[in-house]
Amino acid sequence: MFNTYQFIKNKKTGLSHNPNEIHTFIKYFLKNKIEDSQMAAWLMAVCFNGLNKSELYEYVQSIISSGKQLDFSNLNGFVVDKHSTGGVGDKVSLIVGPILAACNCYVPMIVGRSLAHTGGTLDKLESIKGYNGNIDIDKFKENVKLNGISIIGQNKDICPADKYIYAIRDVTSTIESFPLICASIISKKKAEGISGLVLDIKVGNGAFMKTIQDAQTLGDSLINLGNNLSIKSKYIISDMNQPLGKSSGLWCEVEESIEFLKNNKKDSNLNEIVYQICSIALEMSGQINCTKLITNAITSGKAYEVFEKMVTSHNGSIKDSYKKNKPRYKHILKSSKEGKIYKIDTEKLGYMLVELGGGRKTTKDKLDSTCGFHIYKKLNQKIDLNEPIVEIFGSNQQKIENAKKMFDNVIFIKNTKHEKECLTIYE
Ligand code: URA
Repeated sequence: MFNTYQFIKNKKTGLSHNPNEIHTFIKYFLKNKIEDSQMAAWLMAVCFNGLNKSELYEYVQSIISSGKQLDFSNLNGFVVDKHSTGGVGDKVSLIVGPILAACNCYVPMIVGRSLAHTGGTLDKLESIKGYNGNIDIDKFKENVKLNGISIIGQNKDICPADKYIYAIRDVTSTIESFPLICASIISKKKAEGISGLVLDIKVGNGAFMKTIQDAQTLGDSLINLGNNLSIKSKYIISDMNQPLGKSSGLWCEVEESIEFLKNNKKDSNLNEIVYQICSIALEMSGQINCTKLITNAITSGKAYEVFEKMVTSHNGSIKDSYKKNKPRYKHILKSSKEGKIYKIDTEKLGYMLVELGGGRKTTKDKLDSTCGFHIYKKLNQKIDLNEPIVEIFGSNQQKIENAKKMFDNVIFIKNTKHEKECLTIYE
């Protein structure tokens, strides 16, 4: 007979669970036989005492089996995805997905919404006029087969247990637990039916992981779990001590991704990360000359064509999105002195974007798809007095005024070179 009280107490006192108990706990929770308060207590106990390897494996299995598990084994190509732990200006998924699909891979991508100061791929895609990121699973599978890629948000069919548990974690200070983060990410990836996964662990003042050591610990746990579930998994650690690319926001990031895919105006850091992730994924798929394949996919126009087809299959129209997303107000923030940029408070920039309407302060907040910022100067670059650093824009004047006030102590200028070079590390 399963005893919820004893189950929670065992974790609280450092004892381990057997596989059956974990499955029963999740099954009863989904049947409302376990209250949210009991789930919250157990999650907090996990935050303090962790989950051992076998507990984590069973927990993930029970989350996966709470919903459907997709199977793409009938497709003639490697089924792969990438996942980022989140940052500011991180539009890599919008670019990497279509490139991989253009290189004969299949990419069934389930993405999240903006979280705290970091942007979410689903919110960005929904800035495209008509884009539906909530199509049903059969249509999702059909689109993957048809275009090589489909991008949707988590729905009732994919790991519903994670969806409910995540909502409890969000309000009980139980997000920051390595086993819970790993389980939440990897369960959704396994349910997608992928064979390969490249993780992009962001580290720095704009990321959730602030130190390389934490990023490595998280990366190691994620790939161990992925590999145990028969997903070939690798990770890179990449810099989030400044926004990635030239723009951060909703439509403006889609626009930057379109320009990238059309081989126009590419930011060098963004370019480096895109090539690294695509190369790892293509190597996993058994392909060779990966750099050349990626370049060809972009220069031939094939990657952009895939993106456009994917958007159309989701009822979106790129052509109609430019006018819809024209911001009504703009403001340029200028440098108050000359020198070199030595530090950017990226998290603060992320929260400035939330203030502009690019993220939510409450679950009911409506986003402003026109809002965002362009960053004109990056780390180590020289800047003159009164030179533009950041341009903010959006369609709510009050929000622009509020964001302007947050610009104090965000970008630091000195007459010395920033000591730490931007880092991107291979694993
Ligand atoms: N992303 C997820 O999907 N889950 C987490 O727990 C953290 C980030």
